[in-house]
Amino acid sequence: MRLVRFLARGKPAWGIVNGDELAELDGDFFTPFKTLKAGHVFSQVKLLPPCNPSKVVAVGLNYRDHAHELGLAIPEEPVIFLKPTTTIIGPGESIICPRTSSRVDYEAELGVVVKDRTRNIGPEEAPDHILGYTCANDVTARDLQKKGGQWTRAKSFDTFCPVGPWIETDLDPGDLLIQSYLNGERRQSSRTSQLIFNVHELVSFISGIMTLEPGDLIITGTPAGIGPMKPGDEIEVRIEGLGSLKNPVSAEC
Ligand code: MG
Repeated sequence: MRLVRFLARGKPAWGIVNGDELAELDGDFFTPFKTLKAGHVFSQVKLLPPCNPSKVVAVGLNYRDHAHELGLAIPEEPVIFLKPTTTIIGPGESIICPRTSSRVDYEAELGVVVKDRTRNIGPEEAPDHILGYTCANDVTARDLQKKGGQWTRAKSFDTFCPVGPWIETDLDPGDLLIQSYLNGERRQSSRTSQLIFNVHELVSFISGIMTLEPGDLIITGTPAGIGPMKPGDEIEVRIEGLGSLKNPVSAEC
């Protein structure tokens, strides 16, 4: 099932996509719902970020090829950090480069959307608590990341977490092609089989630290090939089975 959030009559609505048909729901994905009478044409609606999380939990240095690229050791446990929900934007919305940074990077990442309240589960239980998967971009002010003792400032500017275009509920995340394209040129290309800690291990690990709520977003790290963007660029994240997430880049006014 392919789930989206979109603008209907000026308000956020949830729906199920089938080809170019979009069936609006009478609620959200996390409570029992019915599909409403009113159908929409998928290609004509304004898409919103496909989840509305209470938090975004991000994972650093989680691809073998990226660790190798940076000359860093493989971590023994996941390295996690939080991005505020004010970083989230949907497909087509602009990533805004802040005036205080001179290098803003893309990071293509597989996003995992949590299905229900989850605490202290094992990896084998994780599939029961995952609603589905989406494309994400962990936009990072790289110069500020190097300057600061920790990453909050570099990772937290408004618009620094594009997500979408939809949540796919029926997908095995074990070995998907993950790529980024800057102005149509391929910059990153790897497979989720390169993950140091896989999706189920990550959900388990994070649930041992904090309660995960319905709709929470976990972004699982980026492969080799990170690099800068500038105003006027367009960055695209493509993941096998999850489509394409495109965002223009602009300067702070
Ligand atoms: Mg990242």
